[in-house]
Amino acid sequence: MARQSGDLRKYRSKRNFKVTSEPSGGNSGRSSQNGLSYVIQKHQASHLHYDFRLEWNGVLLSWAIPKGPSLDPAVKRLAAQVEDHPLEYAGFEGVIPEGEYGGGTVMLWDHGTWVPEDPDVDAALRQGELKFELHGEKLRGSWVLVRTRLGYRGSRKPQWLLIKHRDRYASKEDVLAAMPRSAASRRLLAEIARDSEGDVAQAARGDSARS
Ligand code: MN
Repeated sequence: MARQSGDLRKYRSKRNFKVTSEPSGGNSGRSSQNGLSYVIQKHQASHLHYDFRLEWNGVLLSWAIPKGPSLDPAVKRLAAQVEDHPLEYAGFEGVIPEGEYGGGTVMLWDHGTWVPEDPDVDAALRQGELKFELHGEKLRGSWVLVRTRLGYRGSRKPQWLLIKHRDRYASKEDVLAAMPRSAASRRLLAEIARDSEGDVAQAARGDSARS
């Protein structure tokens, strides 16, 4: 049976790709060569949060985690499921313009691959318990996402908890504080924001020159 592809309509409807440099997902549907992508983006929008994304069915399943992941199996972190994102989003680091959806700075905090414990991921998602292994630079070992509340049509988002399983990668260390830099560029959020100031000014000058 062919896998059903994810749906990017919601993702696209929220964004103006003439203004934001985020990918539109035009080339999505192509899977990565070396396993399923995993990424966490640290996102300083109106509130700081961590966007947790897992490649599945040609898109990135996405959860917003206000407090970020914890390596401590005793700590459960709230993860609100949000709209699927295009696969190319796994490479995005930069600044979303103010006033746009999710306006603020995005850092590629961690990246790598993930392996579902049960190959029937669609069934696990329906049942609300997804067990998996992460092979990132910062997050490794066994984890679980457990759904605690279904989404209601249109309004509320499905809520899950992200929990570390007990294994050799479990720890009491605060990984967010210990490793604050980008896994891609080694920059801090403030450095990413500062580096993009020149680009934004240049884009603004280009716009006014054309008008
Ligand atoms: Mn976000």
